[in-house]
Amino acid sequence: MLPSQCAICKAWPSQAICETCVAAFARPVSRCPLCATPLSTPLSTSISSVLCNTLSSTFCSVCTQQRPDIDACCAALSYTWPWTQLIAQFKFQRDAGWAGHFALLMVSAPFAEDALLQADVLIPIPLSKQRLSQRGFNQSLILAHHLSRAKTQSQTLLRMIDTPPQSSLKRSQRLTNLEGAFAVAPLMALPLRGQNILLIDDVLTSGATLNFAARVLKQAGAAHVGALVLAKTPE
Ligand SMILES: [Zn+2]
Ligand SMILES: [Zn+2]
Repeated sequence: MLPSQCAICKAWPSQAICETCVAAFARPVSRCPLCATPLSTPLSTSISSVLCNTLSSTFCSVCTQQRPDIDACCAALSYTWPWTQLIAQFKFQRDAGWAGHFALLMVSAPFAEDALLQADVLIPIPLSKQRLSQRGFNQSLILAHHLSRAKTQSQTLLRMIDTPPQSSLKRSQRLTNLEGAFAVAPLMALPLRGQNILLIDDVLTSGATLNFAARVLKQAGAAHVGALVLAKTPE
């Protein structure tokens, strides 16, 4: 990937993604602060209600009915064109050079900078051994390293079993697919107590993965578990 041509509009010379394309395709939208589902309220309204601690008024209907295990969730992008193609390049064609550009977009997401500052630890969602050996790298770990190498802990949360990708399953299957999939490494349980954790993932589908991971981390004593993801799939 040459940094001289925009990967989306092919403008030259430019950054890997030009400012016009960032403005057009990575425009921040108002999202539910618990699951990152887009909301119909304007972004300025949801920001002011978060700042004034009136979060409940900004939850989506699902989170209003039942609070998820995760305490907060920010998403930088909608998982639609052109990001689907670019994320596939990053993930499946081993084009790890995209990680830095994606991490910059993640930092720019509403509330992401605060979430990163307040987090004691960044924990990338782990891949199973099988998936890791197929792909050669964990895309979430590379994103976490670009966000804060010093805060990243990749040995705390363990993937115990290989499960089918969440995106390949129906909604009802997604909720049971991950049963027993995560565990906290025994030696990491003590330092986890009372910590503010920020989970890092590339694509958020139903939120089941983040919620299973959050539940395991909280059972181990984490005080707060939020998430920062690159892209959220549309409903
Ligand atoms: Zn462009
Ligand atoms: Zn929600």
